[in-house]
Amino acid sequence: MVASNRLPFTLQRTARGIERRHSPGGLVSALEPVLRARGGTWVGWPGMELRAGESIPDGETHYDVATISLSESEVSRYYHGFCNRTLWPLLHSMPGLARFEARDFETYARVNDRFADAVLETAGPDDLVWVHDYQLALSPARIRQRAPDTRLAYFLHIPFPPYDIFRLLPWDRELLLGLLACDLVGFHVPGYVDNFLNCVEQRLGARVDRQRQLIEHGDRMVRVGAFPIGIEYEHFEQRAREAPAQPETQRERVVLGVDRLDYTKGIPERISAFARLLERYPEHRERVVLLQVAVPSRSQVAEYKQLKREIDELVGRVNGRFATASWSPIRYLYRSIDPTRLAALYRDAHVALVSPLRDGMNLVAKEFVACQTESPGVLVLSRLAGAGETMREALLVNPYNVDETAEALHRALKMDETERRSRMEALRARELRDNVQAWVGSFLESAEASMPVLAPLSDTDFHGWLDAYLTRPHLALFLDYDGTLTELVGHPSEARLSPAARQAVTTCSSRPDTDVAIVTGRALADIQTLLKAPELTYAGNHGLEIQGPDGLDFRHDDLVHYAQRTDTLARALEEVARDGAWVEPKGPTLTFHYRAVAADAREPLIERARELITGAGYQARAAHEALEARPPIGWDKGRAVLHVLRSRYGPAWSERVRVLYVGDDETDEDAFRFLAGLAMTFRVGPAHTLTAASHRLAGVGAVLSLVDFLARR
Ligand code: UDP
Repeated sequence: MVASNRLPFTLQRTARGIERRHSPGGLVSALEPVLRARGGTWVGWPGMELRAGESIPDGETHYDVATISLSESEVSRYYHGFCNRTLWPLLHSMPGLARFEARDFETYARVNDRFADAVLETAGPDDLVWVHDYQLALSPARIRQRAPDTRLAYFLHIPFPPYDIFRLLPWDRELLLGLLACDLVGFHVPGYVDNFLNCVEQRLGARVDRQRQLIEHGDRMVRVGAFPIGIEYEHFEQRAREAPAQPETQRERVVLGVDRLDYTKGIPERISAFARLLERYPEHRERVVLLQVAVPSRSQVAEYKQLKREIDELVGRVNGRFATASWSPIRYLYRSIDPTRLAALYRDAHVALVSPLRDGMNLVAKEFVACQTESPGVLVLSRLAGAGETMREALLVNPYNVDETAEALHRALKMDETERRSRMEALRARELRDNVQAWVGSFLESAEASMPVLAPLSDTDFHGWLDAYLTRPHLALFLDYDGTLTELVGHPSEARLSPAARQAVTTCSSRPDTDVAIVTGRALADIQTLLKAPELTYAGNHGLEIQGPDGLDFRHDDLVHYAQRTDTLARALEEVARDGAWVEPKGPTLTFHYRAVAADAREPLIERARELITGAGYQARAAHEALEARPPIGWDKGRAVLHVLRSRYGPAWSERVRVLYVGDDETDEDAFRFLAGLAMTFRVGPAHTLTAASHRLAGVGAVLSLVDFLARR
């Protein structure tokens, strides 16, 4: 199953009725032959809405198509908005052009969910779902959430920028989480993979193995990799062999540019470089033309309208300056051209000037070399395109450097045939070998390979995380209990600390430079009995009651008002303590457990419990298959940690002690948020939710490795 924003065709309403038009762009050129050859289903948007009585005209029959409908306002906010005015410029490292609008993002998220739902409607349990490109970065998260066992892969067809640029996006973590819902995330070149790994490491605190290109994402593994896309080489070559000569390429030597009209393509810079060539080397005047094809694209977006005006004016100025009675230096075609004619232009061009300011790959460069079936021409290629990393026999330029590009053009036009042939043959051999079928093959092979496991956490990992932080004489280590030090179990009374965990915690706390505190939702007396270690500090009831060495003894003042009321609430909750649900009174708080209730019987019980809890003047908070009733006192695990730090180390505690906090659930998120900047925080367990913690740990085993490391450090 393929999901992408566009289908291989775009519908248009004409005088003859609804017609299919071939969708422009690299993604369709790459994927269409794959689906034609292998069959499957393609989920996408047909580019316009059908009215009553209209239907999609017949076309391709080799695979199925499932269409997504988008309203006008969705097209505007999702497609023109978040996709093309936010992600497109940002991912191309042009943040100055990016707009950040919350409503655009909300629509993007909603539309992504719709694509995901359409995929799930058609996907069989064994299908591989292959999601494409930046328009659908959140869909994988929805698919994983609704069908956790789906085989899910993603390919990004545009660049992935460095961390320093990506993090400008207000929804950067959401996008990373979307992609990490996949089993495999593919990019064009290794540089983009590195950027992505840096982002998940720095922004999500995930553990990465650069060598093996793996990410530990909570309790799942994600594979990443570089898969440089190729083209349907033989088709282009054959078309070039068969296409008739074009009048444009008969008289003068042609420098060819072919692009969607897009600010990433560097069209004005290219025209300036061509003008510089004519200025510096008058010998090319009247002998060479720049033939620039600009395919209309996103013409509703203001930046694109502006660019079109800029190019029109620039072409006019350069032609006005250099033209003679019988020659104009620039021939500018603002339209799309049919494949046969394009193949002839590629074949007959003397130079292809492919100079994007930034480009995921750039297929035009590859199509040009495939079509070079006659006297070999020269490829002048931007270093800033993905293609610049593999097509090294091209003359590589920095497109922002107009002088360098003009010099490369001159060199290309003067190059002798031996050199041209050597360079072109090497380029052609590579593109023939690494064609689109090879790309699909290597991507699918990787998607279908079994998932390796990441090496267990080692001291090297801990040194990497902690060395720069642990620069104070003391360490205060705060640990949640259930789900952090012990695995979650059916009944709280069964959660026992393993001997290894007990050993690590007590060794740690016996160090004179280390204090350990347990911060839990359990009642204080309960946790003290479970640990039986008097040297530890305990914060029970989410920090409302604290006891520790040196007379540390705290009970929140406002609790006096709640002692009786919790008993009353507990009695009221008897009503819903059935079908396996039960109530655990914990002094000032209580927990309503529904883990043992059958899934389809839960909803009404939870709703009624919530009503009773809030009706009694308590806060109802979701916990692991439970509801917590807490007095509405502005106090949580984060404030409790601060209280412990101030009591133990004084108001200037941050001068004396470094703080680590490890927890696994929503009540720990209170602490992560509160302690941001004050402590280094670790979230344990499944990672599909956002966290305010600075790092993630896969599970209880990883927590014990950390505590063990701290005990030995
Ligand atoms: N192309 C097209 N119509 C045209 C001219 C070109 O569909 O009139 C195709 C071209 O053959 C190439 C694609 O558009 O396959 C451009 O892909 P590229 O990777 O160069 O850039 P993108 O448009 O994806 O940014």
